[in-house]
Amino acid sequence: MNLQLANTDELYGLIPKDIEGMDSLVELAFNIRWSWNHASDKLWQQLDPELWKLTQNPWVILQTVSRDRLQRHLEDPEFRSTIKTLLDDNKKALSSPNWFQQNHPKTQLKGVAYFSMEYMLSEALPIYAGGLGNVAGDQLKSASDLGVPVTAVGLLYAQGYFRQEIDKNGIQNALFPYNDPGQLPIRPLRLPNGEWLRIKVPFPGHPLWLRAWQVQVGRLKLYLLDSNDASNLPEFRGITDELYGGGPEQRIKQEIALGIGGYKLLRALDLKPEVCHMNEGHAAFLVLERANDFMKQTGRSFKEALAVTRAGNLFTTHTAVPAGFDHFSYALMEKFFQAYAEEELDIDFTELMEMGQEEGKNPFSHFNMAYLATRGSGAVNGVSQLHGKVSRNLFRNLFPRWPVNEIPIGHVTNGVHMPSWDSEHADALWTEACGKDRWRGELDDHAAHISNLGDEKLWKFRNLSRERLVGFIQERFERQSLVSGLSPDIVRTALQIFDPNTLTLGFARRFVTYKRPDLLLHDPQRFIRILKNPERPVQLVMAGKAPPTDESGKALIRKWIEFIQKHELYEHVAFLSDYDMMLTEHLVRGVDVWLNTPRRPWEASGTSGMKVLVNGGINLSVLDGWWAEAYTPEVGWALGDGHEHGNGPAHDAQEAEALYRLLENEVVPEFYDRNKKKVPERWVERIRKSMADLTSHFSANRTVREYTEHYYLPAAKSYKKRAARKGLIGKRIVEANNGLNTKWHGVKFGKATIKSNRNTHEFEVPIWLNGMDPEHILVELFAEGLDGEPAERIKMKMDWMKEQGEHNYHAKIVTSRPTDHYTVRILPKYAGVTVPLEDNLILWQH
Ligand SMILES: *Cc1c(COP(=O)(O)O)cnc(C)c1O
Repeated sequence: MNLQLANTDELYGLIPKDIEGMDSLVELAFNIRWSWNHASDKLWQQLDPELWKLTQNPWVILQTVSRDRLQRHLEDPEFRSTIKTLLDDNKKALSSPNWFQQNHPKTQLKGVAYFSMEYMLSEALPIYAGGLGNVAGDQLKSASDLGVPVTAVGLLYAQGYFRQEIDKNGIQNALFPYNDPGQLPIRPLRLPNGEWLRIKVPFPGHPLWLRAWQVQVGRLKLYLLDSNDASNLPEFRGITDELYGGGPEQRIKQEIALGIGGYKLLRALDLKPEVCHMNEGHAAFLVLERANDFMKQTGRSFKEALAVTRAGNLFTTHTAVPAGFDHFSYALMEKFFQAYAEEELDIDFTELMEMGQEEGKNPFSHFNMAYLATRGSGAVNGVSQLHGKVSRNLFRNLFPRWPVNEIPIGHVTNGVHMPSWDSEHADALWTEACGKDRWRGELDDHAAHISNLGDEKLWKFRNLSRERLVGFIQERFERQSLVSGLSPDIVRTALQIFDPNTLTLGFARRFVTYKRPDLLLHDPQRFIRILKNPERPVQLVMAGKAPPTDESGKALIRKWIEFIQKHELYEHVAFLSDYDMMLTEHLVRGVDVWLNTPRRPWEASGTSGMKVLVNGGINLSVLDGWWAEAYTPEVGWALGDGHEHGNGPAHDAQEAEALYRLLENEVVPEFYDRNKKKVPERWVERIRKSMADLTSHFSANRTVREYTEHYYLPAAKSYKKRAARKGLIGKRIVEANNGLNTKWHGVKFGKATIKSNRNTHEFEVPIWLNGMDPEHILVELFAEGLDGEPAERIKMKMDWMKEQGEHNYHAKIVTSRPTDHYTVRILPKYAGVTVPLEDNLILWQH
């Protein structure tokens, strides 16, 4: 479809378009590739250094600076040639065949639609809260680098997530500045006839209208929907006001906008992605709308349409605790989905409700979005190896009587988009070692090249990075002390706090109790001794927001502010307010050590620690999330024993103790142990190892390639197969499933006989199949795995049947295990369905 974006000067009348070269600048400003391309920083800096520093938003700069200034720069040949280079570079990035095109030229995968409630792409587009948005933003950027054909869908929030101010008493104030769409790097999406593309979603009483916007992310597009359309009822206009704000009703409306509105938007653009990827369960209503769309196109029933379309859906779960799942009450669901179920999907409302409830539970129980996502997907994954395991336990209830190891949830460990988080110094170092296009293909050789970097070079790089960070901390602290009303004495010394040669620790994350941001305050005097050691001082920079309604989180911030004030630790500890992407960038580029102290296993993955890797920072973290699989003694430090210990204070005390000991005995001495050239050899060796061994693996480049090859490509293939001939396979799946369901519980096992000869055993068992089609089942001998080995599964063959429905199955095994380790079981097996994800029946012989 031929789309046309609004002419920006028509819209706002703010851009002096008649100046020659202005259109090129506008084009650059609207591709937020500038957020990870250091080459363009200088351009915007030249136009308005102050504004660039504060906003990192080229579009705001273009709207703000004077005509004269723009003209003067655009007349400068060097400025013009930078623009040309950048545009050529963008064009090349847009059109050249990248990793995906080179490696998968014949694929059936033409499009992946990625759905997420939040995207962290740049502080110039504040539509994110934290980790989840980080994952979405970084993977989108990497998909662009790699050429994976992703289209992203999200919501445009009028206020985004709250901004934080901390007053002089340590009280967090939540602020909600308005996101003026005219100043964001986004454009309204218009149809060829000039009409603004608006999506109509059926809502009780009056339709909901959603306006569509476009963000250009390298070679990819992110489409955003917002509800501030003049034709909406007043109670609907504010649906997209605030990210994670309001109560359950606001949330269900937002999730309908994202899932159903988002899928309708794709269809309005004539996009037919083979794969829909749900980043967390928020978008799960798309499962219903995608099936609905297939029904309308083919005349299939809802069940059949779902059997076809789910093969093309992927669900990534991010939570490590049941409380993390979104769920809605029966009454709320009824309000928004009763008519939708009956009129759109042609099913009973109860049937729709069952997709979000546990089997056999009270029919009025809550509707769980993660359950809907699971039952509507062809694959499900967690976000680290450990989180995969944790999730298999969390989702056990959906697969009754299945061994936990067979719960169908895999994992793809998160990674971060390195070009977004590296400093200019790091970029230069890596370019020299691994080349300019190093994050756009495979990464096999990086480790070897980084391993060759010399001690002095690495150490100089770290010193420069730390020095920059110290300058930044001083400036930020001065500004924030003035705003929060700290005493003039403190403000006056703001530019002297911190030291560029001192070991610098960083801790920044959401302030919630499970992350234990106060672990270091367990024994304040001991911590102060570590900080103030005259020969080997330590400094700590912190940041973090507590959810506005979380009193215990806010108390943790207060605890730190009070600690700093009471002991006058301004020179050694700085708590910077308003943790956002820009602040993260500065911190991860400069700190020597990144601390992370969650209560295992609550951190599903964590990504902030990955951001220091490319910059030569070292991680000191609890063995949770990504660190549980990344850690080796050469690359960093580990806290805890890699086991769960609940949330008792005794265990916290133990881990605080271990943290102090690590700092006192290992981290601090190693940092200050210098050779003749004043280089800390062991420390630098650790940096080199961490950079070489971990950076590539924990990059979003690796993550996106893994999603592509392990999930997107197979999902596209499977979906295409099922969708062929108007979804004929979907029909067969439903028939086979119905056939098994009605007869399954009448199946009876006869007595097994075992003939043994030393280690060879022949099992035979008669089974009465109750009229089930033997072609639709699999009979197995099953034995639990020993010592962490995978379970043994041996297929049993049917050798004869009698008229009364008795079927005889047998298998021969050679094993040293006793025969009573083996049990006969029956599973579904038909039409390529994934068992037990798509059909969770199972029968065990007792
Ligand atoms: C990276 C990042 C996060 C995620 O950090 P975790 O330590 O994984 O929780 C959250 N917020 C911001 C601003 C970030 O940059």
